[in-house]
Amino acid sequence: MGQMSLLDSQPPEPVDVVIVGAGLAGLACAQQIAAAGMSVRLLEAASAPGGRIRTDQVDGFLLDRGFQVLLTEYPEAQSILDYESLKLRQFLPGALVRQAGSFHRFADPFREPAKALGFLFDSIVPLRDKLLVARLRSECLHLTTERVFASEEESTREYLRRFGFSPFITERFFQPLFGGVFLERNLSTSARWFRWLFSIFARGHAAVPRLGMERLPQQLAARLPDQTLRLNSSVTQLEKSENGWFVGTESGAKYLAKRLVMATPEPQTRLLMASLRTPGVAPNRVWNRTTTIYYAASHAPVDEPVVVLNGDGPSAGPVNHLAVMSLVSADYAPPGAHLVCANIVGAAPESDEAMQKLESEVRAQMRRWFGDPVNRWNVLAGYPVAHALPMQTSLQPFHSAPVDSGVLICGDHVASSSIQGALVSGRMAAARILDTSAQSHF
Ligand SMILES: Cc1cc2nc3c(=O)[nH]c(=O)nc-3n(C[C@H](O)[C@H](O)[C@H](O)COP(=O)(O)OP(=O)(O)OC[C@H]3O[C@@H](n4cnc5c(N)ncnc54)[C@H](O)[C@@H]3O)c2cc1C
Repeated sequence: MGQMSLLDSQPPEPVDVVIVGAGLAGLACAQQIAAAGMSVRLLEAASAPGGRIRTDQVDGFLLDRGFQVLLTEYPEAQSILDYESLKLRQFLPGALVRQAGSFHRFADPFREPAKALGFLFDSIVPLRDKLLVARLRSECLHLTTERVFASEEESTREYLRRFGFSPFITERFFQPLFGGVFLERNLSTSARWFRWLFSIFARGHAAVPRLGMERLPQQLAARLPDQTLRLNSSVTQLEKSENGWFVGTESGAKYLAKRLVMATPEPQTRLLMASLRTPGVAPNRVWNRTTTIYYAASHAPVDEPVVVLNGDGPSAGPVNHLAVMSLVSADYAPPGAHLVCANIVGAAPESDEAMQKLESEVRAQMRRWFGDPVNRWNVLAGYPVAHALPMQTSLQPFHSAPVDSGVLICGDHVASSSIQGALVSGRMAAARILDTSAQSHF
């Protein structure tokens, strides 16, 4: 027997706009629409908003569901988020690189001159690479969007090679650092995106809210009028009629909306819209995978809030980058404890057995880095994320939110794979509904 049509049963709740998905994109969109005085329902399948940005509390520790950071210079984040009430805690610029049995400080010489002396005189980095880093930084500081898009599309790896960097610094610094940002170590990601992100890094800081990354979506959700956000509302049915869009949820709620916005990740959007859209209009995106394993430790293995990179590559172990979150924000761990966050790029185990195997490889690598105290670290949780970031092999100017079969589409997958992209895409979808002009590039 076919599925009962939404049109056949009890009357749906009429609203101006239904948005499906309360990640950053859906939240940003809902905020604009509600502010314009339209009625909006933001339907979220999970029990809390945030999508890919959630934070769990486990034994007094704050565990972001996968290590992630806010880059404070993201223009969209600056305009939509209230940084002061997030109480941002910053990482030190630069990184600590584990290479050939010891740690080397890669500081930003312009912002941390004292620490950068170590980098400048560190014999492992060829002088030519040091000078090129300074040139890249200077170029990126003056980067305009016009110049980003004027450059040819190519991979970050190819761009770095053409820029003159040696394989030495690419493998030991760029690959683990930007592999950790893109969540792919081959650096196949667009060089346009790399250059723009490099400029954002050079101008600002990587930071987390004092009480966890989930504070970002919570802040946006708190601004919505009552009844706007409907949690535990997994949308299962969409139908178009001459009166508008009928939207049905698993729990039986029904809505009739003049406009419909899909703010779900690309695979869910594709699935939900299967009956509406022309088949094959958009190719499947490749998604980058990652896993974060959290440990409780009585002593921090490093003594500063810095990202530690694996400069020896995957042969040295699965961890690409690591941070002691409790050194970035003391509230990430209970008093007297530290939270170590080890990150693997390119893997997201699907079984407990595979997860346990990965954890034992991570621990063995950490023992080689930090010695016997690692034996006393306790695993708090592991977060494998198979759909972490849509692969960004090209970056095109983003002038308006796409419309597919009459439905507005937003989410990081239509703009850029980032917090910035998700927020921009939501605002731009709202602008199309409100028929206001809006500007953005990423
Ligand atoms: C581990 C990890 C690390 C990251 N690191 C960074 C970083 O350091 N910096 C950075 O800028 N970005 C980072 N990102 C990317 C960033 O988190 C995302 O780009 C952004 O959060 C995407 O937001 P979104 O609203 O587009 O999608 P999502 O957050 O995926 O939101 C989509 C929402 O739709 C809901 N949904 C799906 N199906 C349905 C349905 N049928 N009915 C109702 N609701 C539905 C989902 O539950 C979800 O809440 C990282 C992501 C991950 C996972």
